[in-house]
Amino acid sequence: MKGPWTTGGTWLRSALHTHTTRSDGELAPKNLARHYERASYDVLAVTDHWRITDAASSERLLVIPSVELNCILPGARDGHVLAFGVAAGEPELRELARDHADLETTADWIEAHGGVAYLAHPYWTGVTPGTLELPENVTGIEVFNAGCELEVGRGLSAVHWDELLEAGRLCPAIAADDSHHPGFDSDLAWTWVRAPERSRAAVLGALADGRFYSSTGPLILDVRRDGEAVEVRCSPCRTVTLVSGRTIGAAVNVGRLGYRHAGRELECNQEGLVVHARLDVPRSARHVRVEVADAAGRKAWANPIAV
Ligand SMILES: [Zn+2]
Ligand SMILES: [Zn+2]
Repeated sequence: MKGPWTTGGTWLRSALHTHTTRSDGELAPKNLARHYERASYDVLAVTDHWRITDAASSERLLVIPSVELNCILPGARDGHVLAFGVAAGEPELRELARDHADLETTADWIEAHGGVAYLAHPYWTGVTPGTLELPENVTGIEVFNAGCELEVGRGLSAVHWDELLEAGRLCPAIAADDSHHPGFDSDLAWTWVRAPERSRAAVLGALADGRFYSSTGPLILDVRRDGEAVEVRCSPCRTVTLVSGRTIGAAVNVGRLGYRHAGRELECNQEGLVVHARLDVPRSARHVRVEVADAAGRKAWANPIAV
């Protein structure tokens, strides 16, 4: 997986999980597009349940017709899968729905129809962390879903993600609103996609390659491996963490009683918040990922790096 900071291109603020009146959302597709455009997004994926929804792109906002499908997960859980940029007719969708397919079959279908698959909200769904296996053609998962957090406090699937990483499946993870009531449950979580241009193909390529990071507020400006350490540049944050395998990792916490573990701040702003930190890669690490949190507790997540 090539990091978004080491490749050229442009940063696109992307809303990747949203609903309209074509399923259980409140706004018509064109009004939802206008809403996200006003909130200064660059990309919108409309992901209505079982309906591929399109809306006109504008000068500012690229709309990617997408869909949210159901599948059967281990333990007979009803899983939700986001299919970005998929192209299929209603009869084909109906046929897939009739099949009650598992995750792998659903992902095969998505791939065959030109889409990129991500598993939505595993914590909300109730998948047991550690039992989930992602087929190769499911690119990644949602690490944070704002709607699931707002409604039932099950928005953060970091444990599910870390268990996949622990098992050697270095998948990327997006953050998204899953907005049904724009204004009330929107502009809370997004994905910063690094793409050579603002086109459908370029964004789908970046999603397939994990060239992005996810956020509920903070910016991650750079993540760079430097020998046995990782250097992170970010908007002012209270915590910068290097998450790795079980019991290992590193962190810099600043504030009244700061705490450093295998890391240190290289630069802080006037309020004493970290903007540049250096974290040691644990000797036994096989992968690391960077997570930051600002003074309000809002987080951002970089995708894993193999070490
Ligand atoms: Zn869902
Ligand atoms: Zn949804």
